[in-house]
Amino acid sequence: VIEVDGVTRRFGSLTAVDGVSLELGEGEFFALLGPSGCGKTTLLRLIAGFEIPDAGRILLDGNDITRLRPNRRPVNLMFQSYALFPHMTVRANIAYGLEMEKRPKDEIRSRVADILAMTELTALADRKPDKLSGGQRQRVALARALVKRPRVLLLDEPLGALDKKLREQMQLELKKLQHELGITFVVVTHDQDEALVMADRIALMKDGVIAQAGSPRELYENPASRFVAGFIGVTN
Ligand code: ATP
Repeated sequence: VIEVDGVTRRFGSLTAVDGVSLELGEGEFFALLGPSGCGKTTLLRLIAGFEIPDAGRILLDGNDITRLRPNRRPVNLMFQSYALFPHMTVRANIAYGLEMEKRPKDEIRSRVADILAMTELTALADRKPDKLSGGQRQRVALARALVKRPRVLLLDEPLGALDKKLREQMQLELKKLQHELGITFVVVTHDQDEALVMADRIALMKDGVIAQAGSPRELYENPASRFVAGFIGVTN
């Protein structure tokens, strides 16, 4: 679906993303993994169109979208701080994006109902966000992104605020959604276990470059460097 071709993004003298190339396959669950400050979020924002690269290109189905605005790309970024509208119910929060697109009322109603069911939020649909747990709020944020049916969903530390049990539950839910909806997921995480569990492929970044990209198994069994081995958690 998406090809990142030699993309560089500089902030002053700092090169946050340095000549990165990647291919994201249709329906694939892709994890961008790496330590804090290595450029994961910047790379995600480049794919979403919130940053324009200083060099390189981003292609969608072979078409150059490097300079296309975020809202013109079939790509949806769910931010780290996923502020829900506090005065609106769960249902209204999820419907909002479709209302902005001026979709017909019937279509909005049925799409929202589908997503509520899929994310197991139907029973909470009439609550306001302040009556929800952190994990439930994160699910609403996810539902709000999914309802727009992006081909590619970019998630920045989507499970960061959750405790271990909820994280594991949400990891399974995301995998289920990947299979049910055929969406391509790109997930930023600094948690190697999360990447190993969820991803079909992982790109491990360091200082703006990709240290290694491959299946979890490849990185685990065949780390390209001591850094990869250390980060993935192989000690010898
Ligand atoms: P984290 O896991 O901590 O979120 P990250 O891997 O996502 O880190 P980025 O947020 O992409 O890293 O940042 C990469 C580098 O670019 C960091 O050194 C950061 O300080 C810098 N950076 C990011 N955005 C900007 C900006 N708008 N202006 C200046 N520097 C920036």
